[in-house]
Parts: sequence; structure tokens; C-alpha cells
Amino acid sequence: MLKAVARLACLLLLAATACFAQGKLPQLDRFDASMLDKSKNPCVDFFAYSCSKWQAAHPIPADMASVGVITPLFLYNQTILREAMERAAANPSATGTEQQVGDYWKSCMNLDERAAKGKQWLAEALKPVDAIRSKQELAGVLAQLHAGLLPAFESGDNEVYTAFFGFGPQQDMEDSSKMVAGFDQGGLSLPAREYYLDDDPASKQLREQFKKHLVRMFTLAGDSAEEAEREAAAVFSIESALAGPQMNSVDRRDPLKTYNKRSLAQIKAAMPDFDLDEYLKVAGAPEPPFYIVTTPGFFPAVNQQIKGRSLAELKSYLRWWVIRSAASKTTPELEQANFEFFGTVLEGTPRMLPQWRRCVASADARMGEALGQEYVKIAFPPESKARAVELMNGIRTALKQDIGSLDWMSPATRKQAIEKLDAMIQKVGYPDKWRDYSAMKIVAGNFYQNAISAENFEVRRELRKVNQPVDRMEWQMTPATINAYNDPQNNTINFPAGILQLPYFGPTESDAVNYGATGATIGHEIIHGFDDQGRKFDAKGNLRDWWTASDAKAYDERGDCLAAEYTHPVPELGPEVKTNGKLTQGEDTADDGGVRLALAALENLYKSLGKPMDTPESDGLTARQRFYAAYAFSWCESDRPEAERKQIATDPHSLARYRVNVPLSNVPDFARAFGCKAGQPMVREHACRIW
Ligand SMILES: [Zn+2]
Repeated sequence: MLKAVARLACLLLLAATACFAQGKLPQLDRFDASMLDKSKNPCVDFFAYSCSKWQAAHPIPADMASVGVITPLFLYNQTILREAMERAAANPSATGTEQQVGDYWKSCMNLDERAAKGKQWLAEALKPVDAIRSKQELAGVLAQLHAGLLPAFESGDNEVYTAFFGFGPQQDMEDSSKMVAGFDQGGLSLPAREYYLDDDPASKQLREQFKKHLVRMFTLAGDSAEEAEREAAAVFSIESALAGPQMNSVDRRDPLKTYNKRSLAQIKAAMPDFDLDEYLKVAGAPEPPFYIVTTPGFFPAVNQQIKGRSLAELKSYLRWWVIRSAASKTTPELEQANFEFFGTVLEGTPRMLPQWRRCVASADARMGEALGQEYVKIAFPPESKARAVELMNGIRTALKQDIGSLDWMSPATRKQAIEKLDAMIQKVGYPDKWRDYSAMKIVAGNFYQNAISAENFEVRRELRKVNQPVDRMEWQMTPATINAYNDPQNNTINFPAGILQLPYFGPTESDAVNYGATGATIGHEIIHGFDDQGRKFDAKGNLRDWWTASDAKAYDERGDCLAAEYTHPVPELGPEVKTNGKLTQGEDTADDGGVRLALAALENLYKSLGKPMDTPESDGLTARQRFYAAYAFSWCESDRPEAERKQIATDPHSLARYRVNVPLSNVPDFARAFGCKAGQPMVREHACRIW
């Protein structure tokens, strides 16, 4: 949760199976001091002290990879969206977005139609690939697929999942007011390059399971057993060859490594056997003054595959990507089979979420600002927004004080840091101006066509941004999303209404709870503008080094300290599993700073009110203790081991238990609040601190 960079469309696949009663919103969780486990020592494992009772009471449902305090809220938000869609669907004279939402919902929920016509839809989807007669024609078909069935989008873990590579608009890093276009590595079905390259037994086994899955999917798509074997071998071989030259996820976090300006001629020279002119013509993007190639080392490998493989192998590769994407839009049988690998094998989840929840998630992803208007009316009253803005202002003041008092920063850097903080735009709840969906064509019936049409609308909308001024007020998350982000290139923090809800935030919760469970998250997002990635962008969002050499050195030393704290084995997941503090450094920096800022803001508030923070209140906790306990509670969750292994391998966010215990063990105030002594696990001898 809480992503660092823009355009990370991340969906948290967490949910609840609590009974769904139509017309009645599910109960939300909230912080309650009686849930603290007094049999555990808060100075040994604060996560266990705060979460073990909650975990014991909440086993992981069969249709989820994790369960957390976020789970009831996810169900709550989805229920509101479901009811909005059902209302739209029930109106026979609906027009505009109401017609779109209603018809999308009905077509998505109509499994009988998908079962009856899905095979025909899949054949239609495969037609352009089957019709390819020469390698020359490959580029045009790829552009067509990227514009509908296989849109290139960055996932929450900063990987692009589409055939061969991603192409789309990109904000110029040196001049954030301009939008150019860019190319990024892609082409892998498994979560990251290491899944193809690592040599441990678990990775090898997973690759065998993946190969079997490919055969199964080709067979379900109607190919003979022999064809399916041959096609699966081609897909696996091509993806394995693309994995090696990919940039790894640690390097991908460094904007200095991913900002590579290239002319069209240079990109063509890297891929002489790919008809780039045809690709761009079919994609229909305006020509920018230059392109940004995130990972230049990857593109010769694409060329090598196109040049060295037979046409049949290349077509098998594209067929797989079409089948994979069509699985969730055509026959239920294909969708179930695909889930059994990507959901069950990779994440350990035994079964799919109910159909209505998958339809809500898909509609939220494709027309989220239409649905979001309904969500905000019900779940985000003006009082909530006012209180959230107040909280944000408090956190910003705390950071300003912090920057002013840092002993390792010189006045020159300090001045620019304050300028950057002052220029940061905070967006709360929902956009000022809602997206115009009028050009999106949604019909009654035919879910496959509706899904492709919605993807195509979005790809076209994105591509139109090339050469246009940047809209800093646009949102990359929908209003009902339970997440937040910092966009360093626009210097904004963005808090959808979906996360400004219980148990994170409530207009009637105590200040200590709101500051611990949401203030720390606000601090987290603000700090992203000053983490190892964000600090390289200035007040305008331009990639520019505004640090003196000695301040940058002092920063890096502190960053290395944190990275070392977060790099350690995780024996409970297997002998080979180890966290990578370089991958999670930005998120860990934000967590550490976020908690400190929220505490400082709460202290400021208590001081201004003349209230004591260390006197036990009615629930037996002091405000200070409640602050830390509410922070920990906001991270209570249990994950399946498969999901944890995947998170450690691919996700720049540390596991929840570390997000609680590591930052708090770095804060001396925490030890004082709970009477912890030197030598106990929650008290670091050499605590790290940046902000
Ligand atoms: Zn984050």
C-alpha cells in the first residue's frame, strides 16, 4: 500500500467474505484497546502485541491471499459501488455514464452469456494474431493489441505486464510541464525476471508449474495437445530470453538510470527487425520531440527474439498473451483455469472472489471516476474532508519544523527542501473536475466487447496526452481506492476518499487514533517526496540535483543505515528467502519518517490544547500509547506464505510486521511510552533516522 510513483494502478486484492446483505453496508473495523494482547510483551514484538488477537479472530478467507483490517473496508467500498451499478442497471431509460455503468455491470454479471459466447469471442480476439503472415506484420498487430486487449500499464510493483514491451505517454523528467512518450521493458508473464533466473528449488518448481499452465491454457483455447506443447515451449523460451536483459527492480527505482532520452532513429537502430514506424502509425500517438526509454538494454533483446525465432514461435507467444488477457473476459472455464495458476500457485489463494466483486473491481478500474461520484456522495461527507485537510496541514507543519532542525542538512539544501514542501499540492478525496467518459462505448450485452472498448478508451485518452501540457490535478487512483500516492513529477500527494475511512480515519475517532492510523500515512506520502527517489526531484517536479554534495552524502549514509535494517533472512518462509532493503528503501524511509511526523503533529496539537499526552484516558491508554497502537492496528494483517514470498521478491513495500516493528524500534519515544529497556528487541542500539 501507499505507492511512490505516479501511474501505479494498484489494486489491493484483499477482501472479506463477511455476509453481504443488499441495502445494508457492512460493519467497518475500528481501533479498540481491548484488542491489544496483554499476554505479549510490547517491547519484544509490538506487531504481535497489537495484532495477534485480531489475527486469531480473522482467518484468511479462501478467496483471498491476505486478510487485514483493510478487508472490511474493501467490502464496504465495493458494496457502495455495487449498489450504484445496480441502480444504474435498473433504470431502463438511463443515458450517459448511468447507461455505461449499468450496461457494463449487466454484461459482466451475465455468466451464461460468457459461457455461451466466450469461445466465439476468444476466436475473434485471436484472429489478428492467427492472420499474421510475415514478421513484417507483427508490429502492427502488436500495436493493435496494446491499444485494447493488452494495454501496457505499470502494476503496483513497477513491472509492465504486456507482450514484448510497454509504450505510452511519459512525463519528461527534466521538464515536468511536458508530456512526451516512452518505451519500457515488458514481455514477462511471471511477476519478475528473477522468477525465470533464480536457481533455487522453489523457483525451478514454479517454472515447471508455469509450463504446465501454458499447455493447459492453449488446450482450453482449442489447440491439440501436440500444438499446445509446442506453443508452450516457445512462450517459455521467449520469456526466459527476455528476462535476462531486463533491468532489475532495484535499478528501476533510480530515475537517473531510467531517464534515457532517445530519438526515433536510435530506437529503430536498437530494433532493426521490428517495424517501429508501423507500430507507431497503428498506435496513433503524436510524435514527441524525443522518447524516454526506461531500459535501453532490453530492446536489443526484443529484436533478437524477433529476428531469431520462427514466425510460428512468435505467433505462439502473442497467442498466449491474448488468451491470458481474454481469460477474464470470455469463458468462465478459461478464467478459472488462469486463476488456478496466477491466484492459487503464485499467491496461494484457493478460490476466486465472487463474481460481483470481480465485476466491481473491473468497473472501478475502467470507469472509476463515474462510479466515484456515487461513492463520494455516500461515504465522504464535507466534514470528513475538512478533518482530513486539517490533519494534513498539521503533518506538513511538523515536517517544516523537522527540516528546520536537522543537524545534518546545510542551510542551502534546507531552503530548497522547504520550497519543495511548500509547493506540494495535496489532493483529498476526489478530483475537482470529473473525467469525461462520453466517448467510451458500452453496449447492452457482450462483456468481451465492453472490456476491450473501455481499455481502448483509456489507451487513447492516455496517448492524446503526448505533446500536451501536463495536468497536475489529474488523479491516478479512483475515489473508492484504499490507497494513496505521492507523485514526485507533479509534486503532489493524493488521498482518495476510499482510504479516508475506518479503521484508518473517522471524523469522530480520537485524535491519537486518527494521527496514528492516518497521520502516519499522510506523513508517509509527504516523505516520499524526500525519499531516495523523491529527493532527486525539485519543487516543480523536475529531475534536478538540488542537494549540496555533503548533504547528499549525509543523506545516503542515513539511507544505507535503513537499507541494512531492512535486509535480513525470513526463515519462516524458507531458507533462501531474504528481504532486500535496497528494493524497499523508499517505502521504509517513508514509514520511518511518517510515524515521526505524525507523532510530532499530535504533540503540537496536544500542546495547543493544553492536554497531557501521558495520562491514562478512559480506555487505560495514554494518548501516546494509543497513537502507536493505532498505527500498528492499521497494519494488522495475515498473508499466505506464497503471497509473502511474492511480495518480498517483487514489491517495494516491506511486510506488514516489519512496517510496524522496524520504524517503532527506531523511535526512542516509543520505548518511553511503553517502558521498554535497552537490549529489548523493540529498542535499537543504533537507531536509523533520516527525517
Ligand atoms: Zn509508499
